[in-house]
Amino acid sequence: MCGIVGTVGPFCDAQNVLNQLEVLEYRGYDSAGIAFVDAHNELRVVRAVGEVQKLRDAVFEAHPDHKSMASIAHTRWATHGAPNAGNAHPHRAGNVAVVHNGIIENFKDLRGWLADKGVGFETDTDTETIALLANHYLNEGLPPRDAAAQTIAQLDGA
Ligand code: GLU
Repeated sequence: MCGIVGTVGPFCDAQNVLNQLEVLEYRGYDSAGIAFVDAHNELRVVRAVGEVQKLRDAVFEAHPDHKSMASIAHTRWATHGAPNAGNAHPHRAGNVAVVHNGIIENFKDLRGWLADKGVGFETDTDTETIALLANHYLNEGLPPRDAAAQTIAQLDGA
């Protein structure tokens, strides 16, 4: 079962979030990832197969300055798509990053709906559809709260 940690605040540090994610390692997982808004207000996503320590090393290497205004992190238990770095969460679309525990039962229908609108896919997961839907509605001009509500209204499952 996956683990999810999130923080918001001016003094967050991506490494602190990973400390919390390690507390959830006992739940079992195949890969891990983190999304954080860095000191320059850029959304960063780092993902790795295997232990949270590997993710921590990857974050240090890619982003030596890992101060963060907001972070979400995830340990994945794959249900849709192989346990590889490309399928690890968070899934990003534009400025949306999503972590998820569960299964989107209607993800194939949603992928078809998105494909008809010219949206492409980078993963084999059901979860990616959440990020793509939210980004689609943001691109249509909906405010973030409404984009999230519209997205959630289309999801079946957990
Ligand atoms: N359906 C998600 C996936 O396979 C579940 C991830 C999870 O719960 O850890 O990516």
